[in-house]
Amino acid sequence: MTRVVIILGPPGAGKGTQAANLSANLGLAHIATGDLFRENLKNNTALGEKARGFMNSGRLVPDALVIEMLFDRVAKPDCEVGYLLDGFPRTLPQAAALEQALGEAAGVQALNLEVADESIVGRATGRLLCRGCTAIYHRSFRPPVTDGVCDECSGELFQREDDEEKVVRERLNVYHTETAPLVEYYSARNLLVGVNGEQAPDQVTGALMAALAAVCANDGGGTQ
Ligand code: AMP
Repeated sequence: MTRVVIILGPPGAGKGTQAANLSANLGLAHIATGDLFRENLKNNTALGEKARGFMNSGRLVPDALVIEMLFDRVAKPDCEVGYLLDGFPRTLPQAAALEQALGEAAGVQALNLEVADESIVGRATGRLLCRGCTAIYHRSFRPPVTDGVCDECSGELFQREDDEEKVVRERLNVYHTETAPLVEYYSARNLLVGVNGEQAPDQVTGALMAALAAVCANDGGGTQ
């Protein structure tokens, strides 16, 4: 059975960092729809052109575009045993499309990173990304050894246009209207575990791993 782990949480809650840690620990492919879009922007693809305006203003890319891109990606062989979704689903129609596509053939678990709005603005506006390998840094909480340079691949670090404060606030609004209802959606299906995302990154990873282990134990050690 394919294992699908969904990481929910507001923008800047640490989904990317945690998804990278969990994917390494669990041996599951890390699929981040934001990274897939940024890749398309970088390569000036038709999809990238369609997504650019939405992304730069902090709005969501229309469901149909995201869903097609996501399903293409998870059809690849590295997702056969399972994958970890970071930034998808972000709307109820996306969640419904995923549920319909997976049917009974997957064990789904949703993890919700709980972080207060006030913390989000400070986090997102200090975030830096590597152009080369998409590693994530923070000006205060996780600075690179050399200013502006990635520790892992020496790539150039940059601030995402949508991490500017005005855009972050807009993304938070969008989160509360469009994405927060997913917490109830997965909770109603008994598939949600909430974790305090305000702790240090390693502690959050530990809490997420413990939550997944507890769910597995409750399922009798199955692959859910
Ligand atoms: P992220 O890196 O996950 O914060 O995504 C960056 C931007 O990509 C978002 O602000 C959206 O404009 C777009 N995006 C990423 N994932 C989705 C999604 N599941 N649905 C709609 N738009 C998305």
